[in-house]
Amino acid sequence: MKVLDIQRMSTEDGPGLRTTVFFKGCPLCCTWCHNPESISPKSHVEWLSVRCIGCRICESVCPQKGIHLDETGVHTSERCEACGACTTACPTQALEMKGKDYTVDDLFDIVMKDRAFWGADGGVTLSGGEVTLQWKEAVKLLRKFKDAGVHTAVDTCGFATQAVYDVLLPVTDLFLYDLKLFDDDLHRIFTGQSNERIHSNFAYLVSKNAHIWVRTPIIPGATDTDENIRGLASWIGNKVEKWELCAFNNLCKDKYSRLGRTWDFADASLIEQARMEELTALAVACGAPEAVWSGSTALRESEG
Ligand code: SF4
Ligand code: SF4
Ligand code: SF4
Repeated sequence: MKVLDIQRMSTEDGPGLRTTVFFKGCPLCCTWCHNPESISPKSHVEWLSVRCIGCRICESVCPQKGIHLDETGVHTSERCEACGACTTACPTQALEMKGKDYTVDDLFDIVMKDRAFWGADGGVTLSGGEVTLQWKEAVKLLRKFKDAGVHTAVDTCGFATQAVYDVLLPVTDLFLYDLKLFDDDLHRIFTGQSNERIHSNFAYLVSKNAHIWVRTPIIPGATDTDENIRGLASWIGNKVEKWELCAFNNLCKDKYSRLGRTWDFADASLIEQARMEELTALAVACGAPEAVWSGSTALRESEG
């Protein structure tokens, strides 16, 4: 399976301390995505400009002639087959391969080395990108964790067939389910896909009594309206254990530059703390059993 990263986390990726595996590939293309390097299902080479000395060794070692240096930087082309020769040859480590293949058994062994770190309450979270794009391998991996007595969480955008959630259900202790936009037209505009399937899968998991934490990114000018929170609340009701509103941040700005892409939200301001509190109070008023917010806010930033 293709994995972007494996990280120890002590954040909101499930209860307790956890190891999170970030799968590569996502069926959505959210305009605000904070992990743009995870969207492509293929491995790719990333260039770190500050480390580059312009020696052109990468060009000379590439068997595909798939990388070149020009006045704007080092770029790979469609010819790149992600062989890694340039990343190995670069004398200053200015090139990094994003995306690595693992077998289920190898990934299990690597992650299980963290077991002492998890303590009694923690476990493993599969995140992305989107786990369900590689569901066959994910289910095998989750089965191995369950058999080993490890708590499992799956972070999903909800855009898969219901059959995929059927096979995930027995091996997933907790779903971290993203609900972004209630209005379907806006959902298509901002994520590239309709929200119908996402809503129906959510309703299906609820009907199966799955443990669910919903997460909603609060993005300025996109998801941060009262109407959106009210609409999502009408889906969520009191059927989940937690609803987390995650404040927009701009920490990923550099990631877009490294990918040679512009980002619609590069100049967007952080949400104010008072606004996050308002939206959270609205979620509670609409019936959410436990609504919280997280992330950096404009007020906290100016205080810091
Ligand atoms: S679902 Fe998540 S990983 Fe996929 S594009 Fe949207 S924000 Fe990025
Ligand atoms: S990863 Fe391989 S094919 Fe791709 S640019 Fe580097 S050397 Fe060329
Ligand atoms: S080999 Fe590395 S340092 Fe040299 S031009 Fe390529 S990216 Fe830059």
